[in-house]
Amino acid sequence: MRFKALPFIRHFTTAPNIKPKICVVGSGPAGFYAAQYMATRLETAEIDIFERLPVPFGLVRFGVAPDHANLKNCINTFTKTAQFKNVRFMGNINVGKDVSIKQLREAYHVILLAYGVDDSRKLDIKGGDLKNIFQAKDFVGWYNGVPWDKDLPVDLSGRTATIFGHGNVAIDVARLLLSPVDKLKTTDITEHALATFSKSSVKEVCLIGRRGPLQVSFTTKELRELLNMKDCCTIWRPEDMEGIPEIVPQLVKPRKRLTELMVEKFQTRRIPEDAEKRLKMIFLRSPQEFGGREKVESVKLTINRLEGEDLLNKKAVPTDREETIDTSLVVSSIGYKSIQADSDIPFDNERGVVMNKYGKAGDDLYTAGWLAKGASGVLLHTMEHAFGVASVVLKDIETEGLPRAKPGFEQIAKILDEKNVQVVRWEDWLKIDQFEKNEGQKVNKPREKVVDVEQMLKIAAA
Ligand code: NAP
Repeated sequence: MRFKALPFIRHFTTAPNIKPKICVVGSGPAGFYAAQYMATRLETAEIDIFERLPVPFGLVRFGVAPDHANLKNCINTFTKTAQFKNVRFMGNINVGKDVSIKQLREAYHVILLAYGVDDSRKLDIKGGDLKNIFQAKDFVGWYNGVPWDKDLPVDLSGRTATIFGHGNVAIDVARLLLSPVDKLKTTDITEHALATFSKSSVKEVCLIGRRGPLQVSFTTKELRELLNMKDCCTIWRPEDMEGIPEIVPQLVKPRKRLTELMVEKFQTRRIPEDAEKRLKMIFLRSPQEFGGREKVESVKLTINRLEGEDLLNKKAVPTDREETIDTSLVVSSIGYKSIQADSDIPFDNERGVVMNKYGKAGDDLYTAGWLAKGASGVLLHTMEHAFGVASVVLKDIETEGLPRAKPGFEQIAKILDEKNVQVVRWEDWLKIDQFEKNEGQKVNKPREKVVDVEQMLKIAAA
């Protein structure tokens, strides 16, 4: 979907005394970029960004890997947006629980849902309830400070870890597991995860995909970083790479570059005697069953073959062959999904997205980012999508006008007051931010994230 950005708009058919009241649900990249677009083009609007947690930035804070600090630079732009005079950040408000969509509709002219992903696609196979098997979302949340993931019982005392999925999240998890701990010490990784990584015995990570090297979802830069890790060698299986070098000339960028990288690394592979850790790239395997007494000890894999004409879109078809590998930790990284936060949100449960057309999900209801289109794409794609949906909102206001004034947050504040919800404003977040930076400074980290909601609220209220 391609949107055309609107020019700067100043005048509307709406009566001048009616201020457009807009509520953005979610303070991750989609929410902030949409707010930025609307705030700079419709100065008369009052834009309130609601966030479930007391802290902002969604997946930038909780999804981006701690050793990828440069990917978090967009926080500077979001901070500027939060300080616009027509934008307000309201943390610790759980839409669907503290306040309903129906109540938001009464208070605001427009509700733009951008609350991202909150669930995972699941493997759902036998043995999945054994200990030390995690969804990537929870594992990432554990090392990135999601409050409800802080007590995830991650056990890194075994030698081999297995990750399912060939996307960039799987690469992040593999890199963190294989990183020398000294590289993590100076990042904003949570204290509890750093303590666990410091004692890690993991020496081998198997990165397993159900299809072949031509169908992977990860990207060149991320793969290169993983393959170039110090003190780590990569094991490729010749049968997986059969015929791949010959196909490279037929490919176009960026797939061509990615495949060339794999071929080059495969052809120049050697097993350095002194490599402390190993990454095993495994293709054409799907998990069938996990084995173990209490904790996972092994996984039975179905061997797949590829079927279909289109090289890049071939399907994985199971054969009757299988193999079993030993493992002491499993991370399933096969994609994220969104949830229906309120029954008044039109939701496609199968795809895990809000039903929408070009971001429009109802008369006054819009949606942007992963919640609208599914969990794929980098920050730039989310920005483009959020700008596009925001331009649809402005166009609708321009063409349809606003029939009557709405009370905006004033009305929602009463509901929250009755429920004793402590609203965290931007100034309150700045106190948490400063606290985290101060704590981080003591241990030579950019910040030590507060991982407990009660503590966040206490700092905010101080
Ligand atoms: P993803 O890119 O969609 O990858 C999901 C992987 O899971 C694919 O390899 C997929 O294989 C596999 N999969 C799906 N269902 C499966 C099943 N039932 N059994 C086995 N394998 C299955 O998702 P992601 O890694 O969660 O990443 C989400 C988005 O965030 C991506 O766009 C990614 O680029 C982005 N991201 C970017 C960065 C970065 O820029 N550094 C970091 C992290 C994430 P099939 O192809 O066969 O379905």
